[in-house]
Amino acid sequence: MKNEADIKIAVYPGSFDPVTKGHLDILERASSMFDKVIIAVLKNNSKKSYLPTADRVELIRQSIEEIGINNVEVDSFDGLTIDYARKTGAKFLIRGLRAVSDFEYEMQLSQTNQAIAPEIGTVFLITKPKYNFISSGIVKELSSFGEDVSKFVPKSVVEYLQKNKK
Ligand code: ADP
Repeated sequence: MKNEADIKIAVYPGSFDPVTKGHLDILERASSMFDKVIIAVLKNNSKKSYLPTADRVELIRQSIEEIGINNVEVDSFDGLTIDYARKTGAKFLIRGLRAVSDFEYEMQLSQTNQAIAPEIGTVFLITKPKYNFISSGIVKELSSFGEDVSKFVPKSVVEYLQKNKK
């Protein structure tokens, strides 16, 4: 048994508006690297969200059940990611990288976090090529035109988007 202090916790923060198969692939891989991963939905950032926070959280919960991973918790938070990470005792943040365009933004974010919270590191996982082009934005766009998005998002999200057509 590990001491509480030795438990390696990582926070995977994001908008998850909605969660996609790309996010879940990163989550699954992170869950095999850490004792516990907290996937944390950012409540209010500069982007206006499409789905309410509670729904984004619930859809992640259902998707995790679908895949069957058990060292993952779902939560939501306000404010700075590093403040949230400190509260949970996490020493790592997880971020996914799809393309060079993600890299520039992610490097700036990670270096800012390093400057403010040197005890918390960021671990970058590179997406699988088959998920490279998937983003929550593309899913929202396709779904708003009635397109089938089941290749890109878990079953729970497909059903949710069908029920809550905007
Ligand atoms: P944010 O608003 O913080 O960018 P997102 O929900 O868009 O939140 O993404 C959360 C994290 O997941 C980011 O690190 C992002 O790069 C990563 N991500 C998003 N889509 C994919 C994908 N298809 N494959 C791998 N990582 C992804």
